[in-house]
Amino acid sequence: MTAANVNHVSDLCDLAPAYIRSIAPYLPGKPISELARELGLHPDKIIKLASNENPLGVSPLAMRAMQAALNDIARYPDGNGFELKAALARRYGVAMAQIVLGNGSNDLLNIAARAFLAPTFEAVYSQHAFAIYALEIQYTGAKGVQAPACEFAHDVNAMLAAVTPHTRMIFIANPNNPTGTLIAAAELHAFLYKVPRHVMVVLDEAYNEYIPEALRSDSIAWLAEFPNLIVTRTFSKAYGLAGLRVGYAFAHPDIADILNRVRQPFNVNSISLAAAAAGLDDHEFVRRSYDLNQTGMRQLITGLTRLGISHIPSAGNFVSIKVEDAAGVFQRLLKLGVIVRPIAAYEMPDYLRVSIGLESENARFLEALAQSLPA
Ligand SMILES: *Cc1c(COP(=O)(O)O)cnc(C)c1O
Repeated sequence: MTAANVNHVSDLCDLAPAYIRSIAPYLPGKPISELARELGLHPDKIIKLASNENPLGVSPLAMRAMQAALNDIARYPDGNGFELKAALARRYGVAMAQIVLGNGSNDLLNIAARAFLAPTFEAVYSQHAFAIYALEIQYTGAKGVQAPACEFAHDVNAMLAAVTPHTRMIFIANPNNPTGTLIAAAELHAFLYKVPRHVMVVLDEAYNEYIPEALRSDSIAWLAEFPNLIVTRTFSKAYGLAGLRVGYAFAHPDIADILNRVRQPFNVNSISLAAAAAGLDDHEFVRRSYDLNQTGMRQLITGLTRLGISHIPSAGNFVSIKVEDAAGVFQRLLKLGVIVRPIAAYEMPDYLRVSIGLESENARFLEALAQSLPA
């Protein structure tokens, strides 16, 4: 294609509805390979603490299952994901009919939005909430309604107050990314009682495995009480499978049935299905991931406190820190080969989000941060 005919398609772009044309692109964490090219550095010299990935890598059981599954990739995957659903049903005591599998849990957020939202409807999410919610709402043409947060945390009362007769969905991230804030189980349960029946609640528990057990919500048990509840989880974080894209949702069987009709028939590939089914039972790997995160969080907080830097207490595998000239600090960190995440787009221009890494990575980040702070 020549430059000339790239220039004259605005009439075609105008064919896309206005709510599509106004979508702002999602900005992912900078890949290691990209920074390596920019700095002329070897990728091994760069650390990425920008996408809440598991610093331990992949569960060995999942790795073995993936290698075995490679032999069969000439065939379509099992579109019903029988093995993985059976494993999830056993593990969590739900019926297989209550499970929907996704190409990452982002896919499930998309599926839920497409199943229940359309132009003229509204969906509510919190200020500083995971950016994908607003995007998924916008794709459907529904109106996104942002409820104010309270000290960076979801304010469930403000979210309830934002509900109108047009509202069809509320998105809740618990804990939320990028703030790490957690809604207490009792508060969340009380909130669910108050949500009107015409509103679906999508409860995004992507970081559930990182929450200390005593603080976790009993969200799966709540499904029996609240047929409008959809719980989403992922293999991207504690299971170390972010690159594969696999997540799951639990819902009332009738709701799961609707979601499954919206989903692409082969949305989860066969390698992912095999890895997730094997990884789910790798309790030892998840335990190590949890422990490493707890230790790393303490290491970071100790180092941050020493530097006089405040942070938002986080229940996830990341922490958001407040620094003067966050954009400048981000750039200086990049030059030192350390990738973190600026979160100005989350209405948090003075903050950077840092994923918890290996002990050596956390130490290197703290050292680089000390050098990158404004004088
Ligand atoms: C990382 C993350 C997810 C998971 O996304 P996947 O598509 O499963 O990789 C979902 N919700 C939140 C809030 C997250 O931070």
